[in-house]
Amino acid sequence: VERANRVLELVRAVPDYPGPGITFRDITGLLADGDAFGHVVEALGDVVRAAGGVDLVAGMEARGFLVGAPLATHLGVGFVPLRKAGKLPPPTDSVTYDLEYGTATIELRAGTLHPGARVLVVDDVLATGGTAAAGAELVERGGGVVVGMAFLLELDGLGGRERLAGREVTTLVHVE
Ligand code: IMP
Repeated sequence: VERANRVLELVRAVPDYPGPGITFRDITGLLADGDAFGHVVEALGDVVRAAGGVDLVAGMEARGFLVGAPLATHLGVGFVPLRKAGKLPPPTDSVTYDLEYGTATIELRAGTLHPGARVLVVDDVLATGGTAAAGAELVERGGGVVVGMAFLLELDGLGGRERLAGREVTTLVHVE
């Protein structure tokens, strides 16, 4: 509990960013604290292990890489980047999803996942859940099985949990 509080303290709330009325949660101070960053990776790792482990960790570009890659090495498994469109050489699998204004596409290198691979999808923040839902769909399109989804921080009240209903969701700390 104490360490979870420390993690929470290190997440900075930035009012009116990136626009009026939006409070952005900045995790860079947390990443810069070796103890807290290590705790985050260990705590998420404990939950994943207790749930039976995974074959691969897939991270959402870009901050999902920062949490997912160390978590993967901690668990002794490989890491798969789920990238924004146009970054990976072909062939790729892709999923397009709706944003508040417009759409976004994410891609996975085709053939990265062995059929039935048990995958954990990771990102830094769960807000509305749209990004994570697209990540899970992409893993499934690539032949993997999403056995869990893990986030450092959950923004309560934005419907992320509901959006990911039926999936195994783990978050370390919550804010309103
Ligand atoms: P969602 O798709 O609405 O759940 O938004 C989650 C995505 O947006 C994640 O990839 C986050 O990195 C990013 N995001 C949303 N809100 C914040 C925030 O307050 N701080 C940092 N990242 C955020």
